[in-house]
Amino acid sequence: MSNFVIVGAGECGARAAFALRDKGFEGTITLIGSETHLPYERPPLSKDALVAGAGPKFVAEPERYIEAGIDLLLGRTVSGIDRIAKSVVMADGTVAPYDKLLLATGARPRALSGTIHGGRIATLRSHNDATRIRAHLVEGSHVAILGAGFIGLELAASARRLGATVTLVEGLPRVLSRGVPAEIAEIVTKRHLAEGVEILCGAKVARVEELAGEVRILLDDGRVVSANLLVVGIGAVPNTELAQAAGLTVENGIAVDGLLRTSDPDIFAAGDCTSYPLPLYGDRRVRLESWRNAQEQGQLAAANMLGGVEAHAAVPWFWSDQYDMTLQIAGLADGAVTTVRREMGEEAFILFHLDAEGRLIAASGIGPGTAVARDIRLAEMLIAARAHPDPAALVANHVKLKSLLAA
Ligand code: FAD
Repeated sequence: MSNFVIVGAGECGARAAFALRDKGFEGTITLIGSETHLPYERPPLSKDALVAGAGPKFVAEPERYIEAGIDLLLGRTVSGIDRIAKSVVMADGTVAPYDKLLLATGARPRALSGTIHGGRIATLRSHNDATRIRAHLVEGSHVAILGAGFIGLELAASARRLGATVTLVEGLPRVLSRGVPAEIAEIVTKRHLAEGVEILCGAKVARVEELAGEVRILLDDGRVVSANLLVVGIGAVPNTELAQAAGLTVENGIAVDGLLRTSDPDIFAAGDCTSYPLPLYGDRRVRLESWRNAQEQGQLAAANMLGGVEAHAAVPWFWSDQYDMTLQIAGLADGAVTTVRREMGEEAFILFHLDAEGRLIAASGIGPGTAVARDIRLAEMLIAARAHPDPAALVANHVKLKSLLAA
């Protein structure tokens, strides 16, 4: 009987384990994860669940692992891969042999150099991090957030909902500089300012000091931000050390081909830890940190571990919720030469990004609730179809995007 081992019991690893069974795999499935919680969803950690102080939202209830015959080893860290013996070894010395191995080790927050995280300096990746941060999000407390990316901004919105004072410190000239158009970043900034968030852009941190009862962020222009807690949200780094030590190719993530195979044909990798070629964008190698990508790649890796030959071709997609606003981005906009705007009703719009040949390569939208969701979904289909829609039709909101798809 075959042994399949999955390292990393997050979104991607858990989805892969269930997909193996759904696709009829009858061998042993061992899912190993460092965290002690059952696999859970990370997006709520900075959003509603943080505000509510809720427990983890599990990918699946415990009985489903038993029903599916998945051996779930939690609180166990894999410390090495022996590619010759085809086994993984855990930190406690336990060895698990594999016929096929999936690395779904995810990513971890980038640390702020020169600081020791713990005490009054935190990052947000796990349920335990969220619990620790939430203890500080009370009226009268002041939280400083370093980095105005998605996690920093979502955390700022949640902190305001809980009554904490918030200062956002961003080194670049504006919020959301990575992959989000300035027009959308402007709406986001205005809303945070209206909600009472202090935003300091172009602010370079010279030093961070932890004192009794406070943390002080000294900026290089002499300004000082004093807070009860500093949350560092300056991006994530992929967990590639295991792969690297095993001699697998690593290139901004564990490098895989379109089928999610690493440089060892018996080892696959998927989710946040992985970089892969995207055919839609000329096989450009990308690494996504996105919930849907982790799900889709987990499922695809399972199919290909069973001998499938389907290449990953999904359009990248990401969403973020802040206050009552939802932002959605489909595709990659950085090769765009033309951007046109479709109004979607009050305070909602979508930007369509086209390349030099007029091909739709990305769409970014923002609005209250689900205002842009349906049309972003249709835009995603146009992107996948490599459509060259008429920009005037994209702007005219009486023209249904569905009709462009049919064309
Ligand atoms: P992870 O979820 O990181 O899981 C990897 C697991 O592997 C971890 O549990 C880790 O402990 C474990 N592991 C690592 N190394 C080892 C080892 N050696 N041995 C054993 N176990 C190991 N995406 C969106 O699209 N929209 C959102 O709004 C959004 N919000 C987010 C909010 C927050 C606060 C965070 C942190 C992420 C958010 N994301 C969002 C991103 C999304 O959650 C991730 O893309 C997704 O969780 C990636 O899943 P993964 O399984 O690849 O990695």
